[in-house]
Amino acid sequence: MAYDQHGRKIDYLRISVTDRCNLRCLYCMPEEGVAWKSHDDMLSFEEITRIVRVAATEGFSRIRLTGGEPLVRLGIIDLIREIACTPGIESVAMTTNGILLPKMAMELRSAGLSRVNISLDTLDPKQFAHITRWGNINDVFAGIDAALKMGFNPVKVNAVVVRSLNQDLLSFAKLSLDRPLHVRFIEYMPVGAPEGEAGLGWSAADTIPNEELIMLINEQAVSAGLGELKPVDSTKSVTGWGPARYYQFDNAAGSIGFISALSRHFCSECNRLRLTAEGKLRPCLFNDDEYDLKKALRTGGDEAARDCLREALGSKPDEHHGQIGTERLMSQIGG
Ligand code: SAM
Ligand code: SF4
Repeated sequence: MAYDQHGRKIDYLRISVTDRCNLRCLYCMPEEGVAWKSHDDMLSFEEITRIVRVAATEGFSRIRLTGGEPLVRLGIIDLIREIACTPGIESVAMTTNGILLPKMAMELRSAGLSRVNISLDTLDPKQFAHITRWGNINDVFAGIDAALKMGFNPVKVNAVVVRSLNQDLLSFAKLSLDRPLHVRFIEYMPVGAPEGEAGLGWSAADTIPNEELIMLINEQAVSAGLGELKPVDSTKSVTGWGPARYYQFDNAAGSIGFISALSRHFCSECNRLRLTAEGKLRPCLFNDDEYDLKKALRTGGDEAARDCLREALGSKPDEHHGQIGTERLMSQIGG
């Protein structure tokens, strides 16, 4: 089992399989997309599979595929099949915008994907088209339906919340009432621009701290006769790999989670490493220190990759120390 120098068990690897996307969320990716890169600049699926094998022998048991949009990379189903049958890997998850799920959910499920997080920041079609620059919200709704129908468990909906969007929080929360959907409100994180420079989307000041969000939702829920959210006992809440705190309305099929990277940072519970599509290991989302795993694998094979993984693990900072801003965009890091 892998522990870092601060005693945290690190068993979760988030892999960005592409930095391309079929949407252009204004806080994540510039309208023109990302600069073209040759195949050679990116990890091949064979290389990702090798890295997962090495990571599994180092104690990593949970893999999440992300991006960019992971479903736009050709061959993703085969990659999932390979990862899911790697000895030591217990679960394979994906974070997706959901657009391609209606077409792909069945194959993804049978390849061994078990958990999906679907990103959706608004329930208003016009606002959705604005945030994503051209997306059709009905595609995401169909994606959520397909994920539930195929029996992914859990199915989570990730909503990044900011003050300036004035999102309909109660409608979001109500998605958890009738179906086993776990809606997670995520504080906007100012990444994708070095500290002090303007980011792509919003400023750090636009972030709504989780405590305020819970209060706002409770006020609206009480007025609507739903009562207040009740904390879910962590032993009974939907199993998460991350730091969300979960709540529920009485008799709801799903739950509501809150993730606060800034207002209540969760570094002491950090359990992950991130791998970018270009093969760089990032010990911390907010810290631009990276380890070149692709180079290690290409020059020294599995043993060099193992050393690189250990080195990155050993350099995980204890916390992000309020670091704001990163060189890389979120679409390059994988969220
Ligand atoms: N394309 C997929 C999707 O949208 O789910 C996967 C990649 S996307 C980068 C992963 C997650 O990161 C999404 O839920 C997105 O909303 C979130 N994200 C992107 N930029 C963010 C930011 N600056 N702060 C908080 N979350 C962010
Ligand atoms: Fe694409 Fe996801 Fe980034 Fe939106 S958040 S631009 S869907 S990678």
